[in-house]
Amino acid sequence: MLNIALFGPPGAGKGTQSEFLIKQHNLFYISTGDLLRKEMVAKTKLGLEARDIIAAGGLVSDEIIVQIIEKTITDNAGSGGFLFDGFPRTYIQAYILEGLMLKLHTSLNCLISLTVPEEESVRRLLHRGTTSGRSDDNEAVICNRLREYNQKTLPVLQFYRDKGIYVEVDGTADIAAVHRQITGIIQQELSKKLFNVVLFGYPGSGRGSQGKALAKKFGLEFVATGPMLDAEVKLDTATGRRIKELYDNGQLAPDELVVPLIEKKLADSKGVKGYIFKGFPRTLVQSYILDGLLKKHGSAISQVVEIEVPTLELIRRLNARSHTDACMPYDNSTEKIVKRLQEHESKTVPVIAKYNQLHGVTKVDGMGSFEEVFARTSVVIENGFKNMR
Ligand code: AMP
Repeated sequence: MLNIALFGPPGAGKGTQSEFLIKQHNLFYISTGDLLRKEMVAKTKLGLEARDIIAAGGLVSDEIIVQIIEKTITDNAGSGGFLFDGFPRTYIQAYILEGLMLKLHTSLNCLISLTVPEEESVRRLLHRGTTSGRSDDNEAVICNRLREYNQKTLPVLQFYRDKGIYVEVDGTADIAAVHRQITGIIQQELSKKLFNVVLFGYPGSGRGSQGKALAKKFGLEFVATGPMLDAEVKLDTATGRRIKELYDNGQLAPDELVVPLIEKKLADSKGVKGYIFKGFPRTLVQSYILDGLLKKHGSAISQVVEIEVPTLELIRRLNARSHTDACMPYDNSTEKIVKRLQEHESKTVPVIAKYNQLHGVTKVDGMGSFEEVFARTSVVIENGFKNMR
């Protein structure tokens, strides 16, 4: 998700710039002012409560703001991100926004502040008042709105300065120039954002070969824990020797061994556009670990994909592989193959169900040639990339 807050005094041009941005970046627009005006038109309890305060140019209570904004955010959790206009308007609301973003497992990317001197604000609002039909666009109320802004809203900037996600744009420049500057800032934010895919599928579904090829095509780093463990064994590192011992006893490598390897991979791969995870997370515990690992890099899961292949076809493929040189020690007998399929069913299927609730899981038909499945999966990833932008 890309979440941006547009900040500035009344009349700074937030509404105008928002119109461009939502079209360009597939963002869901939240203007607390617009939401409040809708409530007033509909004469709801909230609208009636807010009416007199808005008419006087004051700020409505945080309780009202939370009520109108929480539902809008949760109802649109599947959007590419949010563009906030007129929120947060107090230091307290900045904390409220943190909490709301956390609920969606995301965060605010940046706050873009449009700076405009007070006289210019007043001039613009008076001009707007001649056509806007807004009762609060008149001189006496404008004065109050600007006083509220100076006293209660300006302190919000410090909150975001401290967080290091505050950017300033000269709001007195012409509309196109301001738009160009904002677009530049957003492009920079997007380039910082990692695109992280978790690729699922039963053993034999082709997730390994597809994942590797997809990573190459989309410039992503392929993180496959199985081969990473095998590499340690081959390199005969201390970890590798422990893993070998466990393998020899028919045991799985514990999280304590797997996690540092992923951690190292994430730390070492600087400048990548994102990651494709395969074979991790395999368990619910590992799904929490992955959240933590990505969070450490200020990132999160962007997309979850599952390659679907019917069970009989899986057995046929794994059995065929067991007769070739590509045979893995873990699929050289029917008993081992069945055990792996069962492991996936009991431990990994619940992870997919969890992701389905949280992010939605895109299913891809895994039947057909490698190229056919690759073409289908590529379309899915391509769309995921587009949604992020
Ligand atoms: P706007 O359309 O953003 O200029 O907002 C119009 C009026 O709605 C403001 O003057 C406030 O009275 C009220 N309002 C809008 N957003 C908020 C907010 N986040 N907190 C408190 N009051 C708000």
